[in-house]
Amino acid sequence: MLFAPEYSCHCGKLRATIHDVTPSTGNLARCHCLDCQAFAIWLTGQGGADVLDESGGSELFQTLAWRLDFTQGKDEYLQAIRLSPKGMIRWYASCCHSPIANMMGSKSMSLIGMPTCGFHENAIDKMGPMRASMFAKAARKGSTPPDDFGFLPVISRILWRQLKAKMRAKTRYSPFWTEAGETIVAPKILTLDERKAVTPKV
Ligand SMILES: [Zn+2]
Ligand SMILES: [Zn+2]
Repeated sequence: MLFAPEYSCHCGKLRATIHDVTPSTGNLARCHCLDCQAFAIWLTGQGGADVLDESGGSELFQTLAWRLDFTQGKDEYLQAIRLSPKGMIRWYASCCHSPIANMMGSKSMSLIGMPTCGFHENAIDKMGPMRASMFAKAARKGSTPPDDFGFLPVISRILWRQLKAKMRAKTRYSPFWTEAGETIVAPKILTLDERKAVTPKV
């Protein structure tokens, strides 16, 4: 039977199922980039729990959007922001300000990164080894993040997956987009000042 774990926001009002989680249906990666930190800090500022590790890193499961199905709370609680007008679209649960997924602002890019804080540990165990750790240079001051590794292999796996996704009609489905090619909710775009307020200085 395919392993389909549940993904849940911190308070449990927004829930999703991820179909078929294995080391070959996604990448486990850690990102220390300033934008991932800024998103997490923005969520904390809205009342969310701190989800960053001691280096300011976020652990992500990167997979394709069609594997994700919301089972509860989508219409009520799924919201998004962008740190800049062209920045990644970052989905979160408005009930408790938990991160849900990051994605590019184009429907043809079906790759999503889901912070693993929404998965049960048993699910994370099935995602395979940590395949990449990125942007150590942007890590929290005074912390000792792992040196960057795995970036190129991960990018090539992503591109390959993207190509395969394009070839298969069912993979065009994404719970984040309408048929007409609009996101289901318009992301709030942070102003420059709002962005500055949540971006760590390096
Ligand atoms: Zn919640
Ligand atoms: Zn990042």
